[in-house]
Amino acid sequence: MPGDGRSGAAKLPWAAVRLARVLAAIALRRAEQFFHTLERRPADPRRHVEALASAEGAHALYVHMPFCHQPLCRFCCFVRYPLDREMNKRYMKALAAEASWLASTAEAAKVPLVYIGGGTPSIDVYGLAELVDVLRSYFGRGLSVSTEASPLDIDDEAVSVLRSAGVSRLSIGVQALSNERLRRLGRLSNTVEDALRAVEAARGRFETLNIDIVWGIASDTPETVYNEARRALEIGASQVTFYPLMPAPGLRKLLRRRREGPWHPLEPRLYEAVLRAARDTGHRPATPWCMDRGSELIDEYVVDYDRFLAIGLSAIGRTEGYIYVNTFTPERYVKLVAERGHAAALAKSLTVEEDILYYASSMAFGLRWCPGQLAKRYGLWASGLNAVVAAALRALGEKRSNGCYTLEKPGSLYAAHAVQRSIYMAVNGLREWGMKTGA
Ligand code: SF4
Repeated sequence: MPGDGRSGAAKLPWAAVRLARVLAAIALRRAEQFFHTLERRPADPRRHVEALASAEGAHALYVHMPFCHQPLCRFCCFVRYPLDREMNKRYMKALAAEASWLASTAEAAKVPLVYIGGGTPSIDVYGLAELVDVLRSYFGRGLSVSTEASPLDIDDEAVSVLRSAGVSRLSIGVQALSNERLRRLGRLSNTVEDALRAVEAARGRFETLNIDIVWGIASDTPETVYNEARRALEIGASQVTFYPLMPAPGLRKLLRRRREGPWHPLEPRLYEAVLRAARDTGHRPATPWCMDRGSELIDEYVVDYDRFLAIGLSAIGRTEGYIYVNTFTPERYVKLVAERGHAAALAKSLTVEEDILYYASSMAFGLRWCPGQLAKRYGLWASGLNAVVAAALRALGEKRSNGCYTLEKPGSLYAAHAVQRSIYMAVNGLREWGMKTGA
């Protein structure tokens, strides 16, 4: 039953909190340094073609849809713009053109999964269904399709359109289950009633139905977070992803000025409350944030695919030894795609150290640590990292089985959460920079 947030067994030791804070600070510094370097590296179109042409093996595909209902959410650091229907039409055409360019350039890559994120991909469900059709024609009829949606757009008709288009996983941005929490978050484009109607329309009609909830706002207590998490977990979705706030530097400054953060003083206890609600309702963490009941697909494609292609503005792609970021504004995106088929604005070859750190962090985000896998891929480079992480995991109470550690204890889940939040905050810093400079 919803209650005081103290029942169950998900205790977070303070030593683990201290360790997580150190790891999170190191991760934030390294990731910010990396993205600051990337900001100074304009993409070389010839090198970009070479890098994508040599991409082999399985890659996910990320597609970014930037337009949202108004008002835009205050807590959000994604690259998003208020809906402009005329521009949206031009954008969708450019997206199809970039998909065509990508399919013919990265011919050797296999693309089993597309993740359509935003922004609000559902803002025009018919346009979205057409896009899925186009992607299938380029990347194969067997393409598994996952998309994000706003509660405002999801009703019976929208669900039928998305089902017929072959969407198998729908993620609804519920964000909060009381209008007061939505208000405090600055999510004003929909109400809780809209969200409940959307979940009702989608329930049982997709292989996986995810809802997103945000936690960590100034008014949160372990009790309110536990009760909110429990309600979300009992709503009838296959999984609930509990996102912490991940403010970019500009938003962090603003929150500090308002004495609202950037971190909640009880942040570890709030995370503990999420874990406790998950355990009390029979869910298991699939990532530090995604609480699941045995779904095929989880919220984060980056867990299953360490290499991913990307189209759409601000989209980030990563192939073997190479990372690229598309331009950040709709006008520039449409122009670049018309001129050269793709819209890469920034790109960088990855050093072995950068590559290994990314691979290792995505493994930890998927709640696994497999020293053999790391050693096989990176040889001696991996040995120092393996030794340090394995020692930390043992100290946090994890055991190795079949060659891998599975992160299950609250301490290691919290550490994985804190490190991933740092990495995403650094990505949000890049997005903030891109929006500001119009790169
Ligand atoms: S949270 Fe989602 S709906 Fe709100 S502005 Fe950001 S991308 Fe748009």
